[in-house]
Amino acid sequence: MIPFRKAFMFSSSSWIIPSRGARLPSRCTRTFEDICDCSYCRNYVREIRATYGDVAAYLDKIGIEIEKPFEVIPIGPDNETMFYSGAQYVVIGAADDFMETSIGTVRIVETDSHPVTDIQEEHFVIELSPIYLRWNHEE
Ligand SMILES: [Zn+2]
Repeated sequence: MIPFRKAFMFSSSSWIIPSRGARLPSRCTRTFEDICDCSYCRNYVREIRATYGDVAAYLDKIGIEIEKPFEVIPIGPDNETMFYSGAQYVVIGAADDFMETSIGTVRIVETDSHPVTDIQEEHFVIELSPIYLRWNHEE
């Protein structure tokens, strides 16, 4: 097996954002075409890159935009901070090539606990956690 890091270094085209995914309206799930419009998800999209630049850079390397999570798991705001227990992203490719890692305070692991992706190609889901963002509720 090619280690995950080497896999995307040598063949970044095989690590792409999926063009489709499940849409589960009762959850904070996005597809490539559509993003959840709830205030928690919009806050995530607005704040995530500025807050977790190193994580964004890591995802950029594997062809994933941090602003386009497959699913966000919001827990709730506490004063000016919004806590998300996790954010999930679909990665096209073989999970065997993925190595779990930590970037700063954020753990990045493969997870089987996610909505149905409805993607036929070989893929897996990674989860970032925990995520604490500025709670910008004054839009
Ligand atoms: Zn949402």
